Amino acid sequence: MRIRFSYRSVCLLLFSLYAFGNLYGQAPSLFLSEADFVTRLQIAQRQPWAKRSLEALVKEADDFPRAYDQRFGVNDGAAPLEGGQWLHWYACPESGRALQFRPPDQNICPDTGRNFSGYPYDHVVYQMRNDALAEAAVALALAYRFTHKDDYAQKAARILTDYARVYPTYALHDINGKTGPNGAKAYAQTLDESLWLIKIAWTYDLIRGANVLSSSEKHAIENDVLRASAAIVLKAHKEPTYNIQSWINGAAAAVGFTLNDRTLIKEAIDGPIGFRYQMHRFVTEGFWAEGAWGYQFYAMRPLTMTAQMAAHKGINLWKEEPNLVALFHSPLGVMLPNGRLPAFNDSGSPDLYEQDYLYEVAYAATSDAAMLNVIEHGARSDREAFLFGVETLPRTGAAKLVSTVFREAGYAALRSRDNDLTVIMKFGPHGGAHGHYDKLNFVLYSHGQTLAIDPGTHPYGIPIHREWDSMSIAHNTISVDQQRQSAATGKVLDWQVGDDWVAVRADAGAAYATANLERTVLLTSKYVLIADDCQSSDGESHTFDWAYHNTGVESLAQSLTMTPFQLPGTNGYQHLSETLHGQTSGAITTHFISTPQAPHSESESNSTPATYYSSKPSFRDQTAPREKVELHLQMLPSVNSEVITGRAPSRSSASPIPFLIVRRSGMSASFGALITVNEEKKGVSPGLTLEQNNSNEFLIRGSGVIDTFFRGGRLSLKHR
Ligand SMILES: [Zn+2]
Repeated sequence: MRIRFSYRSVCLLLFSLYAFGNLYGQAPSLFLSEADFVTRLQIAQRQPWAKRSLEALVKEADDFPRAYDQRFGVNDGAAPLEGGQWLHWYACPESGRALQFRPPDQNICPDTGRNFSGYPYDHVVYQMRNDALAEAAVALALAYRFTHKDDYAQKAARILTDYARVYPTYALHDINGKTGPNGAKAYAQTLDESLWLIKIAWTYDLIRGANVLSSSEKHAIENDVLRASAAIVLKAHKEPTYNIQSWINGAAAAVGFTLNDRTLIKEAIDGPIGFRYQMHRFVTEGFWAEGAWGYQFYAMRPLTMTAQMAAHKGINLWKEEPNLVALFHSPLGVMLPNGRLPAFNDSGSPDLYEQDYLYEVAYAATSDAAMLNVIEHGARSDREAFLFGVETLPRTGAAKLVSTVFREAGYAALRSRDNDLTVIMKFGPHGGAHGHYDKLNFVLYSHGQTLAIDPGTHPYGIPIHREWDSMSIAHNTISVDQQRQSAATGKVLDWQVGDDWVAVRADAGAAYATANLERTVLLTSKYVLIADDCQSSDGESHTFDWAYHNTGVESLAQSLTMTPFQLPGTNGYQHLSETLHGQTSGAITTHFISTPQAPHSESESNSTPATYYSSKPSFRDQTAPREKVELHLQMLPSVNSEVITGRAPSRSSASPIPFLIVRRSGMSASFGALITVNEEKKGVSPGLTLEQNNSNEFLIRGSGVIDTFFRGGRLSLKHR
């Protein structure tokens, strides 16, 4: 006998099931709904990149618990019986290098071969197990939703019921084994536990409607894990740091939305240090208040997740809090043409294209074409592209990068219309504990390379970080009387974008109590002009050190008698090596020849990578050969200029990097430097030249170029 259902009765039945599921909160809804799973599956059928992602997801689910058991030397995917400890303890006390885990219970120093067992070493491994279990749980729960195979749901349920059993027995502990306010239970920090809790909550959201959990098991998971852990991560009720609070808010939102707990949702989004407060307080023109890219991107993960979760419940934070989208725009504003960001403040030079997984989510939520600038460079291999991204990217969506000024955040990006010549100047607020004393500093990029560099940051634990990285002399700016600048905020005095040129003038604010510094930068497709005016403000004469750091090998172009020279032992000057000194009243000309450098990896921070999914390899091909680049710098003469050359440390290079310091003294000093790249190589002989006329205008001449740059009133450039 064939049973026939009418179309209407099927619809009615489906609708009742759907309504029933929703009524009792059984259908998934935290990051993805049932309808979303249908859509994603269809995309995987049509798009090879999505298919690969789905296959990887199912494989990860299939590998559990075998891969986990093998890695940790345990049986049947067991959860640890004690809470985890801080990853930073996992180092050999004798050599400082990371220990190597050998299952089931050895933590071996790679240098001495010694085994470290017991607290805290074993407990760091427990933390790794918690990370692995939470990731496996999400993968299993997603695999269940895509395949409807109960086995996956049962395995995910098993992880949750395991935690329901052990989590209540975990002791509250911080990284020092005490019960401090930032301690947690499954982890030693509220930060780490928040990352885990988001995944655990999502897993529960995905499988609670799968008929694999009894009502008492559900009750235990909801109360003894989700609510209990949310209370733990929220208990400090103050920001340990801004980015950590973003994670805590994300975890509270995950539990709140999963259990429809209004108090938690309110705390996470509208609370006194919730999502909206963070957006209003810690974002200036799209720049995150912690002042370094690592912290900005780390905060953007939970902020993005919170917006996603809220969107499923009808709260559109993308629209209501425009600073969220601004966080995605600001890196594009100051990005270098190769996708890297300038290494300003305590930051490396991270690759913005590696943040594509965040931009996938943001683009799908906002359809903001600027986001495509990042996404279109990737292979869409990240899991976020598959789970949340749009199916097809528009072909011509990405806008060309344009010259931009961020007046409050304090960055000016000057970009050539015709090639990749780029200058990013920095003059904004100090940046708190991670700021560098570098008002008016700039980086210069051309021919596929950053040529004028910022030293970035060395690991915080070693002396050079304190002695060099943040010092004024380590940057392409001016130091007065060999002193470090003070923490200060500079100001844009003028910003003009012409047809084929762009110019900015800014001051250094109160960087020095004894002098005022003003810098003007003009950029065309052929050259960059840097013009500085330094003025004593205390009636005394001062020494002005104009410093410039450029990759490669430096050679002074004129015959100057250079002799070894001793610089002071403070304010970073002690790290300038091979120092030579000369004196001239003529023009100063120097070349820097940069040979192609082997690409080096620069991590953005020391935080563990973790979004919805944690192990994200870099797919970018960075092996493209780079040409030899010759940068030519000529500076207008001044009576009795001192010239100091040598080499200086940089995190971005294993060997020291050449520098040029031009020192001028008096009640005032001015500097005018013309920078060209590969002009002489092209046979433009003798390249461009720089002069200054009686009206203080700059003249730039060469074959086919006679430019006059006016600084008197409004910045302007005239071609003749
Ligand atoms: Zn710096």
